[in-house]
Amino acid sequence: MIYLDHASATPLDPGVQEEMQPYFIKVFGNPGSPHRLGLDAKNALDALRQSTASVLSCHPEEIIFTSGGTESINLAIQGIAHWFKRGHIITSSAEHEAVLETCRQLEREGFSVTYLEVDRYGMVSPLLFERAFRQDTILSSIIYANNEVGTINSIQELASIARHHNVLFHTDACQAGLLDLHTGRLGVDLLSLNGSKINGPKGVGLLYHRSDCPLQPLLFGGGQENGKRSGTENLPLIAGFVKALEVTQAEKEEEMQRLKKIQSTIISGILSRVPNCQLNGHPTQRLPSNVSISFRDIEAEQLIEELDKQGIYVAAGSACTSKSLEPSHVLKAMKVPLEYAQGTIRFSFGKTTSEEEIETLLRVMPPIIEVLRKNQIIISNHR
Ligand SMILES: *Cc1c(COP(=O)(O)O)cnc(C)c1O
Repeated sequence: MIYLDHASATPLDPGVQEEMQPYFIKVFGNPGSPHRLGLDAKNALDALRQSTASVLSCHPEEIIFTSGGTESINLAIQGIAHWFKRGHIITSSAEHEAVLETCRQLEREGFSVTYLEVDRYGMVSPLLFERAFRQDTILSSIIYANNEVGTINSIQELASIARHHNVLFHTDACQAGLLDLHTGRLGVDLLSLNGSKINGPKGVGLLYHRSDCPLQPLLFGGGQENGKRSGTENLPLIAGFVKALEVTQAEKEEEMQRLKKIQSTIISGILSRVPNCQLNGHPTQRLPSNVSISFRDIEAEQLIEELDKQGIYVAAGSACTSKSLEPSHVLKAMKVPLEYAQGTIRFSFGKTTSEEEIETLLRVMPPIIEVLRKNQIIISNHR
């Protein structure tokens, strides 16, 4: 099996799994209980929050543990919008659905939203961002690293523009586990992260929110997470998530170099062996773990199926939109021509990916593409 879909889900790090074990059976108490078992759980949770705060260089009270990226994003965007009750939000047309659909819902509730165009690399222009601010703008939200094409936005610059306009800035950092997550340096007010994209467990994430930043909760109840997110804390998942975050950030320099080598092998290997294809995303400002390539006159679904038969697992332009035949909103926003967009494959790799696996991909895939293209010509000649 050659797994090249790390942008959808990453395998759990065995060290992370080990870290989670004690919290399933031994330290199972409710951190809200006053007895010894509860206190053990509370102390563990406090320590985990402290460790997270060290990684993000923030205060422990600024961390809200959630059920994943989607919840963190919803809490950030809805939480700010509902606190202000009305106003204008700035985001981009190349965001994850969790951001886009939350904004669309807020539009139905009466908020107005600007979806900024991105350039042909999928990047938000600071100039256009600056121009989008209005008197009634309450929040801006821009993705850190794009999940489909890997383009990295200039978060520091965008956040400083937002600050200049006295508007809160949120970033969806779910694909940015290997990047700088120092919240002070980034200058963000809110930041969403999850465990499933950094070799941690699924169903857990966090929202960083600056202590002076207002927030209306989504969930009401026992008042956990400083009253910002009620519900008994999921200690095993949080322990795994925090461990994964620590490991990923500690090893990021080395891992980035390793992945960059794999990335350039894939890019040059495909572009030199397969005619009529193009690399999507920014040439330099990009994640080292993502290669998005559009093959002209190929149906992505067919190529995925053929690769699957060979035990090679890749995604269409976006895993989330792969069921529909419409090209993804990100490729559309980047104005990738239709005959290319339909044949877009995302190769995403990570911790468990080896050079040998890439050699196999580069050997197996080009002949498959040749056959698929030939068949297409035969089909269209018969029409
Ligand atoms: C995966 C992902 C999400 C959603 O996270 P979940 O933990 O699956 O809810 C949001 N944004 C981006 C960029 C992602 O990659």
